[in-house]
Amino acid sequence: MSQMLYRVAKRWIAGQDADEALQIARSLNARGQGVMLNYLGEDILDQGVISAHNEEYTRLQESINTMKLDASISVKLTQLGLGLDADLARKNLLGLAEKASGFRQFLWVDMEGSKYTERTLELYHELLGSFRGVGVAIQAYLRRSEKDVEAILEKGGKIRLCKGAYRETPDIVYTGRPEITQNYVTIMKRVFQSGGRVGIATHDSYLISTAKDLAKDTKSEFEFQMLKGIRDELKDKLVSDGYRMVTYLPYGTSWYSYSKRRIMEHPSNIWLILRSLL
Ligand SMILES: Cc1cc2nc3c(=O)[nH]c(=O)nc-3n(C[C@H](O)[C@H](O)[C@H](O)COP(=O)(O)OP(=O)(O)OC[C@H]3O[C@@H](n4cnc5c(N)ncnc54)[C@H](O)[C@@H]3O)c2cc1C
Repeated sequence: MSQMLYRVAKRWIAGQDADEALQIARSLNARGQGVMLNYLGEDILDQGVISAHNEEYTRLQESINTMKLDASISVKLTQLGLGLDADLARKNLLGLAEKASGFRQFLWVDMEGSKYTERTLELYHELLGSFRGVGVAIQAYLRRSEKDVEAILEKGGKIRLCKGAYRETPDIVYTGRPEITQNYVTIMKRVFQSGGRVGIATHDSYLISTAKDLAKDTKSEFEFQMLKGIRDELKDKLVSDGYRMVTYLPYGTSWYSYSKRRIMEHPSNIWLILRSLL
């Protein structure tokens, strides 16, 4: 059963170790795509495992540098210790940001469940005080995001605008698709109008075409961002049309919950599972 699921999961993840992920990153670079590498894992409370994740990212940064890849790392703060000890997460994050800066690499911070939004943004703002090459994911489903984006724009930060992937309650998130889309567009307009730096992280054709329209009248430095294994033809088309396209490439042994999220997002993926049984 788990082998069968892994075969399906391979669509969304690069493999179980860094070597496999770096090889796929190289092949995506050859197709004209940049890459954000994520070592799978979240909500880690064991100090030894946290330290192993931190070391994995450090080695990745070194390999990206040695292999001269167009790639960055994209970290979840609960991998670096945020759920256990905020000072530990801070120390690990600052270490990775310094390393990224030394290698002239970018560093992305993923956004997790709402329990961590405030502390993630606090740490991100602290990073922005010393580093320009750092960005943070902002979730359009969160009612607070418009305000958070203003604060980031003021400091010249870079935003990865996504819809949001966690189960949350209606007091803090917009729950209907039209409202989430509307808030995504509102934030996108604001960022483009202010000339801010942004990654448009979506596979939604309507949002992608709105972004293209808005980008005509902006000085914003922007790129499209998508997940591995989703809308690959569209990625190639965007590259051939001259847009910067960056693929989020997760890998690692903790592939199960990430893949489950991707399966649940789109009912057609159930067919992938059924087909793999045949
Ligand atoms: C680069 C990147 C980074 C992200 N980082 C974060 C983060 O840090 N925090 C966070 O909460 N969320 C993150 N997300 C996930 C995001 O919040 C959404 O859950 C996810 O992208 C689905 O939303 P969508 O905008 O693609 O729109 P949807 O409405 O879900 O999808 C639009 C269309 O894309 C295709 N599609 C989308 N998903 C799938 C799928 N799983 N299988 C097959 N087809 C699909 C379908 O054609 C669908 O109609 C990230 C997404 C991207 C692209």
